[in-house]
Amino acid sequence: PAAIHIIGGGLAGSEAAWQAASLGVPVVLHEMRPVRGTDAHKTDSLAELVCSNSFRSDDALNNAVGLLHEEMRRMGSLVLAAADRHKLPAGGALAVDREGFAAEITARIAQHPRIEIRREEVGGIPPADWDNVVIATGPLTSPDLAQAILELTGETALSFFDAIAPIVHKDSIDFDKAWFQSRYDRVGPEGDGADYINCPLSRAEYDAFHAALMAGEKTDFKEWEKSTPYFEGCLPVEVMAERGPRTLCFGPMKPVGLTDPKTGRRPHAVVQLRQDNALGTLYNMVGFQTKLKHGEQARIFRMIPGLEHAEFARLGGLHRNTFINSPRLLDRDLRLKQQPRLRFAGQVTGVEGYVESAAIGLLAGQFAGRERLGLATEAPPATTALGALLNHITGAADAKTFQPMNVNFGLLPELPAPPGLTRAQEKQWRAERKPAMARRALDELAAWKARLGIGDPAPLAAAS
Ligand code: FAD
Repeated sequence: PAAIHIIGGGLAGSEAAWQAASLGVPVVLHEMRPVRGTDAHKTDSLAELVCSNSFRSDDALNNAVGLLHEEMRRMGSLVLAAADRHKLPAGGALAVDREGFAAEITARIAQHPRIEIRREEVGGIPPADWDNVVIATGPLTSPDLAQAILELTGETALSFFDAIAPIVHKDSIDFDKAWFQSRYDRVGPEGDGADYINCPLSRAEYDAFHAALMAGEKTDFKEWEKSTPYFEGCLPVEVMAERGPRTLCFGPMKPVGLTDPKTGRRPHAVVQLRQDNALGTLYNMVGFQTKLKHGEQARIFRMIPGLEHAEFARLGGLHRNTFINSPRLLDRDLRLKQQPRLRFAGQVTGVEGYVESAAIGLLAGQFAGRERLGLATEAPPATTALGALLNHITGAADAKTFQPMNVNFGLLPELPAPPGLTRAQEKQWRAERKPAMARRALDELAAWKARLGIGDPAPLAAAS
């Protein structure tokens, strides 16, 4: 068969290339690094992890991303196989040695007899004779290609800002002032026992901090970036501060549900830090995504009681997140409705996260490869994590309010409660339904694979 073209050798593009090539289809993978870089990538490796080294929970029965891991393993995912090979001890999370991980993927793709890597930017709509294309250029899609997609699809905007918050070394926090507590003493959001570190501010300290945030020097933005809207769920802290002197007290700095053990009282305002790595050595400042200049961040955030001597593992910043309105633009096979030779995959389709991006790459590679071979395509059942994520971006999500999405059990159809339960039994059943939903997903994935003749993956051969 003729080659398919995959643009972007990130998490999604590498996985798509692997899947299509494993089906027996030749692939040309176009990756612009190192000829042209992005604002976040630092190497020329394929599948570089630009930020954290965690693929999040690996618990397939209780966590949707863990379930997605397991489904991908059963589909012969290269990204998951490489992650498993380069796994670091991290409790229930799948964290990886980022260099080993990217090197493994780069070598596997480079050595694959059916994959050719071309180090070049595709700076516009691909030539007409590329009849089967996967665009997997990620949140930092090069501006020329983003512009071409914008014009082709008639969208008003493709890029939004995503802001990231600073990360602090826990051993630099002063626990004479700070303390561990979750609001209302709840367990962590993922049920992972994650707890928060709280730094209290008095009224005077809060006022001084607010004034410093307002006055602090912000990063300048290039002209084209000025028209890019913010993603409302992720506003920079100083943009929130500008909305009013008390706004932060009702937002990330709200003190409700917390008691300062030194005073026995609720503080005037609080800064919370959440565990950022499985070792528990790093904590990120919750809601403190920022576009303050780096020097200003260190100066201003050290005004927070408990953080006077904070050492920052990473400072905050803003990055572009380019994604298309998939529910409006794509069909169930991830093809652009108006030009079905163009398929999209990865973060650019409006999924959020390393694993989700690779998962959509896996499906795009399967669909593109099968189409090339004249085989039927069929979406995985919506009861699987793979199918639910695909279903969300290509149909279930509301196109009017579409925003990037992580995988979660809320995307899967409910499991009906068995009839005849008492109210207490039903409550208990609901609390324990995730493993049942996960088992249903794995059973239905197996049935779908059998229908399509997809075999179980062979283990990765030893590296040559
Ligand atoms: P990428 O992995 O970015 O791959 C896209 C590839 O396409 C890149 O290699 C790029 O060089 C190439 N490319 C772009 N344009 C062209 C072109 N025109 N021609 C040829 N090649 C091109 N997710 C998490 O789960 N955890 C995190 O901690 C996290 N942090 C992030 C931090 C930042 C700064 C950003 C930008 C994103 C972060 N994400 C994170 C989100 C997302 O999961 C990652 O960006 C992920 O890498 C997306 O996978 P992808 O394959 O879609 O894109």
